[in-house]
Amino acid sequence: MSLRHRLKRTLRDLYSRAFVYSGLALLMARCGGPRLLILAGHGVDGAAGSASMPADLKISPARLEGLLRALGRYGEWVTVGEGVARLDSGHSRGLVALSMDDGYLDNRTQLLPLLEACDARCTVYLEARPLEIRRVSWLHKWFWLERRLGTVEAGRRCALELNGNSAVLNEILAAGADAAARGLKRRLKYDLDAEPRDRAVHAVFEQAGGDEAALCEELYLCIQDARELLESGRVELGGHTWSHEVLTTLESDVAREEIVRGRGTLEELLGADCGESFAYPFGRRWDQSAEHAQAVEAAGYQSAVTTHAGLNLPTGDSFQLKRWMLTDTLPVHLLVTELCGGFDFLRRLGLDLVE
Ligand SMILES: [Zn+2]
Repeated sequence: MSLRHRLKRTLRDLYSRAFVYSGLALLMARCGGPRLLILAGHGVDGAAGSASMPADLKISPARLEGLLRALGRYGEWVTVGEGVARLDSGHSRGLVALSMDDGYLDNRTQLLPLLEACDARCTVYLEARPLEIRRVSWLHKWFWLERRLGTVEAGRRCALELNGNSAVLNEILAAGADAAARGLKRRLKYDLDAEPRDRAVHAVFEQAGGDEAALCEELYLCIQDARELLESGRVELGGHTWSHEVLTTLESDVAREEIVRGRGTLEELLGADCGESFAYPFGRRWDQSAEHAQAVEAAGYQSAVTTHAGLNLPTGDSFQLKRWMLTDTLPVHLLVTELCGGFDFLRRLGLDLVE
């Protein structure tokens, strides 16, 4: 981490501690203009399939409960769809929305009881393919291979399987184990065509004894689980494409089809009660573009979320909503400061301590 980045983080931490623990946050929570803080996660630890999830895709139940209870004191829990509608209507209190991406089984078994205990709400963005045909993205097969074989051996076997298409993998494997551990997933995600990559990862996964249907059952919600979330009245379901591919790596018409097919499948399987909001797969600026936002709107969604941190205001773009990614170490005072407008006050002075 650069010195400038470290300095910014320290300043952010000191400022938000002072903002929250001086009582200013509580004072600001009751005034100021309409604003919506959105949190983003994937799974909640402790479910039967949790061991199959990488650490950065899950948060501990105790940690999440602490966040839900703390933020509920400073703002009102809404779903993303409700939050966006309330922003547009000029609602003046801080709104806070939790969102979970992909549609993991623990969202029903671990998350729903927490939402009930803390009187909170959540938007769950569903990948349509695992829900409909119980197939998982290449990424979960890759995580499975990394756990069983180690990153370097998994990469070496995928490179062999790719034959003439493996130059980008061979290059990083040749750079040593550390470079491979840091960069192999990124190469697989961005630098290879989806079709040969998926075929190679699947072949290595099967050769190593992987069972895709079993992995899907272990990780993902089924249709009945998704219905239970919807019927709880605490969960909004949203779209997350059909197969969770990086949209910018696809041809325009294929990307559009991913968005439209994802929404159509959810409507068909779960009824017209889902599909207000959409989450771009991976959600960084380079993972989506203006034409994807237009396709999302044309498909009938009212909003779309990214994975860039910040606060959402009525003047913002509803198809580029900002979200804070949850981790087990993210301090709650940062989230309270954002929710109560503390960071936005600095942004208006030209200082962004968040991005
Ligand atoms: Zn996702």
